[in-house]
Amino acid sequence: MGTCSENRKSVPELFGSAVFNDDVMMERLPKDVYKSLRKTIDEGKDLDLTVANAVASAMKDWAVEQGATHFTHWFQPLNGITAEKHDSFISPTSDGRVIMQFSGKELIKGEPDASSFPSGGLRATFEARGYTAWDPTSYAFVKGDSLYIPTAFCSYSGEVLDKKTPLLRSMEALSAQAVRMLRLFGDEKTQQVITTVGAEQEYFLIDKELYKQRPDLLFTGRTLFGAKAPKGQELEDHYYGAIKPKVAAFMGDLDRELWKLGVLAKTKHNEVAPAQHELAPIFTTTNIACDHNQLTMEVMKNVADRHGLVCLLHEKPFAGVNGSGKHNNWSITTDSGKNLLDPGARPWENLPFLLILAAVIQGVDEYQDLLRISVASAGNDRRLGANEAPPAIVSMFLGDELTAVLQAIEEGKPYTQAQRKKLETGVRVLPDFNMDNTDRNRTSPFAFTGNKFEFRSLGSALSIACPNIMLNTIVAEELRRFSDILEQSPAPTGEAVYALIRQVLGRHKRIIFNGDGYSAQWVEEAKRRGLLNLPTTADALPRYLDQKNVALFIRHKIYTEAEMEARYETIMEEYVKTLNIEALTMARMVRGDILPAVSGYASALAQGVAARRQLIPSLPCTAETGLIEGLSALLDRAYAQTSELEALLRDPSSESVNILTAAVHYRDKVLPAMEALRGTVDQMEQRASGACWPYPTYAQLMFNI
Ligand code: ADP
Ligand code: MG
Repeated sequence: MGTCSENRKSVPELFGSAVFNDDVMMERLPKDVYKSLRKTIDEGKDLDLTVANAVASAMKDWAVEQGATHFTHWFQPLNGITAEKHDSFISPTSDGRVIMQFSGKELIKGEPDASSFPSGGLRATFEARGYTAWDPTSYAFVKGDSLYIPTAFCSYSGEVLDKKTPLLRSMEALSAQAVRMLRLFGDEKTQQVITTVGAEQEYFLIDKELYKQRPDLLFTGRTLFGAKAPKGQELEDHYYGAIKPKVAAFMGDLDRELWKLGVLAKTKHNEVAPAQHELAPIFTTTNIACDHNQLTMEVMKNVADRHGLVCLLHEKPFAGVNGSGKHNNWSITTDSGKNLLDPGARPWENLPFLLILAAVIQGVDEYQDLLRISVASAGNDRRLGANEAPPAIVSMFLGDELTAVLQAIEEGKPYTQAQRKKLETGVRVLPDFNMDNTDRNRTSPFAFTGNKFEFRSLGSALSIACPNIMLNTIVAEELRRFSDILEQSPAPTGEAVYALIRQVLGRHKRIIFNGDGYSAQWVEEAKRRGLLNLPTTADALPRYLDQKNVALFIRHKIYTEAEMEARYETIMEEYVKTLNIEALTMARMVRGDILPAVSGYASALAQGVAARRQLIPSLPCTAETGLIEGLSALLDRAYAQTSELEALLRDPSSESVNILTAAVHYRDKVLPAMEALRGTVDQMEQRASGACWPYPTYAQLMFNI
């Protein structure tokens, strides 16, 4: 909620006020120290210890003024959340007092006990140490009573244990190959290209008191039971609807908290499902966008808590209405600020643009599996392909103009631009518009949207690191292959480029699909085209370790094979563990609350019937007897299904469990058993009295704010 004086601050004053950003550095660091630090940030030059000491000391003084007493190396382990361990700045003096101290060494490197972070078997358990290393390209900030220092995380023997390091490596790999490609066209100036990302974030807000009454929400983040409310999203009256005061207060507070942390929160609106909302930031450099998205999710939860609400980031908290996703808007910009995915007015002549476009087409087709894997989780599997999110089939949308440009190139014909259509409003005081030729297809997993690609398959809770690692690396790989070819040609003129693009289209245009990605016909059509359809994590993940994928990451020095195996293990384990927790929670809810409640209700009905018949023996009591019969049958069924479900569960942390076998077992046996049990319980909920039902209903959860 912030203090009063903070609330009076103007937005420009507030923005970044808790961040040790460039302005603060310039103001607080000696000139030569600032210069060396900038060299480290901009060019990756090593930071020497005297500079680090000066930076640390200035950072500490500034943080203490902001109210900080502690510092933490903030990192992103493989489980997709952020990790922090706080140390205070205190240091004892000889006369028994303390002073506040922070050294360059402490800034640059930390040594957290890493033994309990997922490592996929990379780190022997006896070797508990891990290292964290400062990422100076992402600014430090103060949150609560701590100075947060964004860091990378690796094991004692140097294996990468986080998501930030490979993300930074993939950005460098793409930069190297893109600069190499730009040189072919006479660009001698660009030293670096940067990938940029804007991550649109969907979420649900529900009442905190109701949330606490549902073990499924508490333990799994989603409702495992819940009969549909009479009203869902069918009237489409929530999307972009007027924002209710309680939600508006949350959103306003959230904006200010994020602005303080330098997050460029820009757009907010209601989403399709009741109680669902979205926040979109202005795009920024990918690794910062990733840090900021992690922060955004965390701040959303904290601010909601202060407002008596809970922010649900699960990909599918409620059955029957839309789940939440995250759109990863991705582009490539040179160090002088030119967006390389901007087609310009004459795209057919924009050779660097066409080459990158071709690289993306070839890359998305050849590495469909990696893109699917990058968004795989037990939660997101429930959303993909459910007519609310793109299918589990990866394809690309290019829009009419680019499709026509590519077609002309493929056919070797000159391209003539279609006339821009005018949209006439027919109202004198309203302007007419030139219609945008890059129309929007909302059903495509990977759509070109004017000057960027929008990857729409991400689940709401996902770290955006992995999808961007995949994207950056596959485009780096295709650009590398293109440059290998073009550098051989005497002059990489238009003809050489067009010939290459023709070849790419010949082999890979099957990945381009401009139609309705939600339709059943597309599933058939995609099959005919030979595209992959990997509906679940258990289907997708095994492909991660395919030879071509291992070769890709090794070539670009993103991962070693051992690091990939570790990631595979970690994701598969998380899949199995998630489903196991869900199944256990269901069984507990049925046995502990639902069976006693419904059986009690049926008994009460029976007693009532007996009492009434004592008075008037001829009473038919058809309503009660019907209800008792129906509920008794459902009780017996739920009881049997719970036992069946429990019998299927394995201990996923047991050493003897083969992770792939376990994942397949959970997909094929446990998931259907969970669905069956849910079906029975939801029927019970619809028949039993509201008063006896032990949990808040869908109607209460989604319609009471
Ligand atoms: P929508 O997908 O709802 O139509 P917009 O097209 O307005 O939304 O933009 C969505 C997101 O794309 C925003 O976060 C925006 O900052 C981001 N974006 C715009 N340009 C770029 C770019 N060049 N690189 C990365 N992201 C971008
Ligand atoms: Mg979008």
